[in-house]
Amino acid sequence: MVARRKEKKSQNRIFIPLEGLNQTLENLSKHFTVWVPMPSGENEWSLEFKPLHRGCKILLDRQSTLPPKKVILPQGQTLIEYEYKKSESDPSKQDLVLREVIDESPIIVFGTRPCDVRGFLVCDKVFLQGRYIDVYYRARRLNTLFATLFCREADDACFCSSVGSGPADMEGSDIGITPIDGGWILEGLTDRASEIFSLCDCEAPDEKQIEDARRVQEEVRSMRVGNLRTDGVLEGVKGQFQNMELWRDIAESCLSCGVCTYVCPTCYCFTITDEPQGLRGERLRSWDSCMFYQYTQEASGHNPRPTKLERYRNRLGHKFSYFPLRYSGMIACCGCGRCIRSCPVSIDIRQGVERVREAHHGCVCS
Ligand code: SF4
Ligand code: SF4
Repeated sequence: MVARRKEKKSQNRIFIPLEGLNQTLENLSKHFTVWVPMPSGENEWSLEFKPLHRGCKILLDRQSTLPPKKVILPQGQTLIEYEYKKSESDPSKQDLVLREVIDESPIIVFGTRPCDVRGFLVCDKVFLQGRYIDVYYRARRLNTLFATLFCREADDACFCSSVGSGPADMEGSDIGITPIDGGWILEGLTDRASEIFSLCDCEAPDEKQIEDARRVQEEVRSMRVGNLRTDGVLEGVKGQFQNMELWRDIAESCLSCGVCTYVCPTCYCFTITDEPQGLRGERLRSWDSCMFYQYTQEASGHNPRPTKLERYRNRLGHKFSYFPLRYSGMIACCGCGRCIRSCPVSIDIRQGVERVREAHHGCVCS
C-alpha cells in the first residue's frame, strides 16, 4: 500500500473522503462563504445552490435544478442606499447622501458543473467587457472561486458539447473535482487553489486514487453530450426574422411564464427600481425576463415585442445569433438543458434551432 503524504504547503491535489465532505467544507467556511448544491425544500427532487450550514445535505450526484447564477447576480440586489439630509451649509435645502453597496466578501462555489461556469463566462462578456463595467458584478466575480465536477451525469436534455463546451470543460474553474470510489480528488487549476487546499485539512491522494481520477477524467473527456447542429443559425435568424409562420410553429404554445429565463445560467435581463421609505431608500436590481410583455413596453405604450412570437424569437436569436455576432462567435447558451426540463409546455430550444437551420438552408438551396 502506498503511504499517504501530508502536503500542507503548495499542495495541488487533495482527497476528500465521502464521510469528510461536510467537515472539509465547514473548515473552508471559516474563511469563505461556501455555496453548495442542496435540496430546495423538504423533497430532494429540486436542488439549488445555498450557503453551507452545519449538517446540511450536500448533493453532488446530479445537476442542480437552478444554476448558481444568483451567487454573482443575485435575484434581488441593493445597488445603492440613499438618504435625504438637511444641508449643513444651507438648512433650507437637502443633501442627497448615496452609499454604493459593493460586496467583496470571498466565496467558493463547490460542486458546479462545467455548464454552470460557462454561464458566468457568457455573463462576463456583458458585465465586464466594453465601455461600461458593472462594478457590482465585478466585485462578486473577482472574489468567487469555482470548484467544478467532471460531469458524468448528462441526461437527454443536456447538449453542452454542441455549444462549445463539454462535460470535462474546466475553463473558468479554479479547482477540478473528480468523483472516485470512496470520495473525490480535488486538483488545483489556478494559483488560487493552493490557498484553498491549505485550509481544508485533507490528505494528498495516493497513487491509486490519482490513477482512478485520471481514468474518470479520460472517460468524461471522451463523452460527447448532445448532437445539436448550430451551423447556419447565426445567419438563419436574420434571414428568417420576418418568417412569422416559422416562429409560430416554434413558439405557439409558449405561456410567457418566464421560467426558461429564470432557470437559465446565461440569461441576465434585469430591472432597476427604487424602494423609498420616508427620507431614505434603496435602489434595487432584480431579475427580469425578456419573455414578459412588460419587459419591452415603452412609456408611450408601444411595445416592439408585443406577442410571444417576437419574444421567443428574441430569446433564441439572442443566444444563437446576436450574441455570437457581437462576441466573437460565443453562443450564449451553455447547453445545460434546464429550460427544456422546466418548460411547462415542453418547448425545446434545440428544436427551435433546428427549425431555423432547416428554414435557412431551405432558403439557401431554393
Ligand atoms: S418556460 Fe416555456 S412556456 Fe414559459 S416562457 Fe419559456 S418557452 Fe414559454
Ligand atoms: S437556453 Fe436553456 S439550455 Fe441554454 S443555457 Fe439557457 S437554460 Fe441552459
